[in-house]
Amino acid sequence: MATESFGFQAEISQLLDLIINTFYSNKEIFLREIISNASDALDKIRYQSLTDSSALESEPELYIRITPHKEQKMLALRDTGVGMTKADLVNNLGTIAKSGTKAFMEALSSGADISMIGQFGVGFYSAYLVAERVQVITKHNDDEQYIWESAAGGTFTITPDTVNPPLGRGTELRLWLKEDQLEYLEEKKIKDIVKKHSEFISYPIQLAVTKEVETEVEDDEEEVKEEDEEGKAKVEEVDDEEDKKEKKTKKIKESKVENEELNKTKPIWTRNPQDITQEEYSSFYKSLTNDWEDHLSVKHFSVEGQLEFKAILFVPKRAPFDLFETKKKRNNIKLYVRRVFIMDDCEDLIPEYLNFVKGIVDSEDLPLNISRETLQQNKILKVIRKNIVKKCMDAFSEIAEDKDNFKKFYEAFGKNIKLGIHEDAQNRSKLAEFLRFFSTKSGEEQVSLKDYITRMPEVQKSIYYLTGESLSSVRESPFLEVLKKKGFEVLLLVDPIDEYAVTQLKEFEGKKLVCVSKEGLELEETDEEKAQREEEVKQFEELCKTIKDALGDKVEKVVVSNRISDSPCVLVTGQFGWSSNMERIMKAQALRDSSMSSYMASKKTLELNPHNPIIKELKRKVAEDKADKSVRDLTFLLFETALLTSGFTLEEPTHFAKRIHRMIALGLDVDEEDTSAPAPAASSSEPVEEISTSASAMEEID
Ligand code: ADP
Ligand code: MG
Repeated sequence: MATESFGFQAEISQLLDLIINTFYSNKEIFLREIISNASDALDKIRYQSLTDSSALESEPELYIRITPHKEQKMLALRDTGVGMTKADLVNNLGTIAKSGTKAFMEALSSGADISMIGQFGVGFYSAYLVAERVQVITKHNDDEQYIWESAAGGTFTITPDTVNPPLGRGTELRLWLKEDQLEYLEEKKIKDIVKKHSEFISYPIQLAVTKEVETEVEDDEEEVKEEDEEGKAKVEEVDDEEDKKEKKTKKIKESKVENEELNKTKPIWTRNPQDITQEEYSSFYKSLTNDWEDHLSVKHFSVEGQLEFKAILFVPKRAPFDLFETKKKRNNIKLYVRRVFIMDDCEDLIPEYLNFVKGIVDSEDLPLNISRETLQQNKILKVIRKNIVKKCMDAFSEIAEDKDNFKKFYEAFGKNIKLGIHEDAQNRSKLAEFLRFFSTKSGEEQVSLKDYITRMPEVQKSIYYLTGESLSSVRESPFLEVLKKKGFEVLLLVDPIDEYAVTQLKEFEGKKLVCVSKEGLELEETDEEKAQREEEVKQFEELCKTIKDALGDKVEKVVVSNRISDSPCVLVTGQFGWSSNMERIMKAQALRDSSMSSYMASKKTLELNPHNPIIKELKRKVAEDKADKSVRDLTFLLFETALLTSGFTLEEPTHFAKRIHRMIALGLDVDEEDTSAPAPAASSSEPVEEISTSASAMEEID
């Protein structure tokens, strides 16, 4: 029959080369990967059969069977799973690269271990760690039986199978082992590996073992000799005391192939937690997740009463490489009903922000033939979900008891916690306990909101925070000036998701969360301070008005500031609009609907520092002559620098640059015509005085 040839997709070809040529001693993991694929395939047909009872007719029994063929140096691995159609073979085994193909190779070159292969979704190719040639014989209910074959080298073939016995349904992998990998044909070796890596697979894993069996037959001297000569069977003569004088019997040893089940342990979640060792949990975790490392934490519990279920939940140590790849469905929590596997991507069992938690749930109450659609409205499932979320919170709390562990956890899953605060109103305050932020007082360690509150000065009432692009950009922000002086700690939020989370959170343990770059910052102040500020407001009223007139629509208001003590001015945004940081984030989202920005985009208020010499001088000038031209020009420069220091971007950077260049020219006393030639950078020591004298020159650019 027609054999078709295909080329491996380039990255897959590269991966195969790597697998074949990299020196690597822990090759045994190939078996774990193959068994895990078999188990996935069995899961799929089992799930189909819940709604279509005829799905299993092609082969009713569900199992995985390993058969070593020593003479042929070939290891066969058979499953009665869903099998693959011809199109599946083409797509899944060679022509379509998954994102994991490249990611895995990158991980390898930065020191990852080949045994991590399963996590990257390319576990199948690990067969080439031990095999020089691989056949995949497969039969799907919707197609004929096919043989996929490849000895790597860039190509594979697919042939309709007319030579092998029909599989009924499922897949048989045949691995022709490399000369130095023949140990994987040994029973003991296979048993050890299955025990080590695949003990918790929930389908029987059979090993075809050759056994010497003894059978008793009547003695017949002639025959014995014949058989002895032929060497077909060894025969022992047995003296039977009672029958001594009658017939003699003998025992013949014969070779017989038997299927021995290697994973007979009952499901680990049905056992008493007290009897389960940490090693058992960790090996269950690894078989469940393909992770190569132990879990960080485990919760094994059962719920009884009106509704009954058992569950084991694991928190991994690391985030998978594609944690936030949104399109990918992940196998988080496997759902069982009365020990029968139902599905492994049940979205309704756990909220999305907890998609890093792995485990299993086994319900006593759900109907076996439940479908994905009916699950969504299922009340039992809702209760299970609530319990799972609660147990996750408990697990995180336990992790938080150990600072180092929690640090790892937070690095890996901090984003998920923040997402949870945004999405899960019910658990928001609990989740807020797990938040950690840098602050103006935190140094290298991040602080929790609890710690923050315990070290607040007595007069301080709110929790203050500032958002921005990076620590270095916010640490020296003018918004922190007065707060630092007062000894108020300010949280520095530099993860884009922080702002979403904090805006939802609103308060923690009765303390309001206040953004220090937004309007209406009410800093706790003494009566004296208050009186002084009120006085300043009066004194600067005229300047504020003049500046507002000059800037027009660019700002909403111009007011006297209570939050800066050094800088001349800052731009604050409306309490309910976007901060400068949010504006930056939103602008960066290319596909965003831009209709939002018109009313969410920050309405800016310019705040002046009445103690700053520049502002004082401006005030004097305005008092002298309201119509002084230079005031208007300087106002624009101040406004634009305030945009920058307050975290905004300039809308017209070239205009700004021109203004600055003119200043530099003035400072250097160069003729304006010459400024087109690159001049060495320098700044004037007294820019204010000097510029105000050449106001008309600056005006031209506006
Ligand atoms: P993953 O298991 O993470 O999807 P693999 O490289 O291990 O990645 O397997 C690739 C794909 O090949 C699987 O997703 C599946 O579609 C198919 N496959 C592999 N082994 C089997 C099998 N025994 N039965 C059915 N399909 C299989
Ligand atoms: Mg796999």
